[in-house]
Parts: sequence; structure tokens; C-alpha cells
Amino acid sequence: MILFEGVSKVYADSQTALSQVDFHLKQKEMAFLTGHSGSGKSTLLKLVSLMERPTTGRIILNGNDISHLKGNDIPYLRRHIGMIFQDHRLLMNRTVLENVGLPLLIEGYNRHEIKKRSLAALDKVGLTGKGNSFPINLSGGEQQRVGIARAIINKPPLLLADEPTGNLDPKLSVEILNLFESLNQSGMSVLIATHDLGLIAKMRYRTLTLREGEMIDDGLLGGRNEY
Ligand code: ADP
Ligand code: MG
Repeated sequence: MILFEGVSKVYADSQTALSQVDFHLKQKEMAFLTGHSGSGKSTLLKLVSLMERPTTGRIILNGNDISHLKGNDIPYLRRHIGMIFQDHRLLMNRTVLENVGLPLLIEGYNRHEIKKRSLAALDKVGLTGKGNSFPINLSGGEQQRVGIARAIINKPPLLLADEPTGNLDPKLSVEILNLFESLNQSGMSVLIATHDLGLIAKMRYRTLTLREGEMIDDGLLGGRNEY
């Protein structure tokens, strides 16, 4: 699904954010990406989702070399990736259903299809019946589920989540991770960046660890996930 070969990223005005990173996430695999704040987790996800380009190295996404992609190919490939953020980035003046259907609206689907698919996505994340609510009237955990429903509306083969439980208490965090688990069981590859080691310990998934931009443990050699 994702293959990094000697990938480095140096931002214009800073030191190296990622240094010679190699790893492979297989299709239908679910894994965590951890490390201190500033270790490069978000940068790694941005390289996969084509929000940033690598300075050197090669990134293969589902068989396509995306290291130097430009222009029209980018939105096309992004459609195959669901992105989930800590702050879920919902539109507060739109209903839950409108938020979830937004990616399809942008792609020009008709109203009927958008509504049908949005309702199905809400069902999948356990928010049946909440479509006409406004995000402000939902709990933090429910708001994050709306963000997840929006991310999966295109049925992407790959889900990337950047600190998806950062604003949630431990119980809600586990619920959100259980939701990722069920999406993974339905066939999606899932990569979750988090610095919450307690949460990771509860889940027993492969854990990749970054330290100051270096992949010090890719989770395959029986490392201890310390950083
Ligand atoms: P993490 O998500 O693990 O906290 P980041 O990927 O956000 O780490 O950051 C890694 C390093 O890259 C940090 O030193 C950060 O300051 C730097 N960095 C991140 N984004 C940018 C940017 N857009 N421009 C310059 N430096 C950045
Ligand atoms: Mg980050």
C-alpha cells in the first residue's frame, strides 16, 4: 500500500524533518506511527497524501511512484486516501449530512447519490439519525466520527489519521480506535499517527517509531516502541 525508500524531507527554512526513512505498509494492514512532538509524524502523512513532496527518496502508493507527481494527477490520487485530523475540520454552519457529503459534492455527484452515500457512511460510524444535526450540537467523539464518515465516503483503500484522538478522553479514544479497527476489518489499510503510547498499548498493532526524523523502529523486528 505504502512503500518509502530512503525518503528525506527538508522544509525550505528548517532542519531535516525526515531523514532516510524506509518502511512498508502492506495492503489491508493497520499500524500506528508514533514519536515525540516534532519527530516527523505529520510530515510522513503529508508526504503520503501528496500535501508535501519528498526532498529525496521514493514513495510508492498502491504501485504508483508519487515522489514527483504534479498537477492533475494529485487530486485523482488523493481521492483514494481518507484523511482524518485531530481538529476534524468540520463546517459548523452545515449539517452533519452536508459535511459528510462534501467530497462528493465537489466531485459533482447528484443530490440523490450524495444523500444515499452520506447516510450509509453515517451508519458505518455509528451516527445513524444524526444527519440533520449541526456539529456544534454533537459531543467531541461524535464530531470526530463525522470527520471519519467524511473521510470514508469515497471508500478509499487507505485511511491516514493524524492524532485523531488528541482531543478525546481515554474512553472515547478507545471507541474511535475500535471504529478504525472495524474499518480495517472491512478491508481498508489504516495508518494512525499518535503520541499516546497508553492507547497504543491497549491495541496491539504494529507500531512504527520516529525519533527526530529517523525511523528507529518499523515495528517488524520486535522493538520495544520506546522513544
Ligand atoms: P510531528 O507531527 O511528529 O509533531 P512534524 O512532521 O509536524 O512532527 O514536524 C517535524 C519537523 O518539521 C519539526 O521540526 C517541525 O518544526 C518541522 N516542520 C513541520 N512542518 C513544517 C513546515 N511547513 N515548514 C517548516 N518546518 C516544518
Ligand atoms: Mg503532528
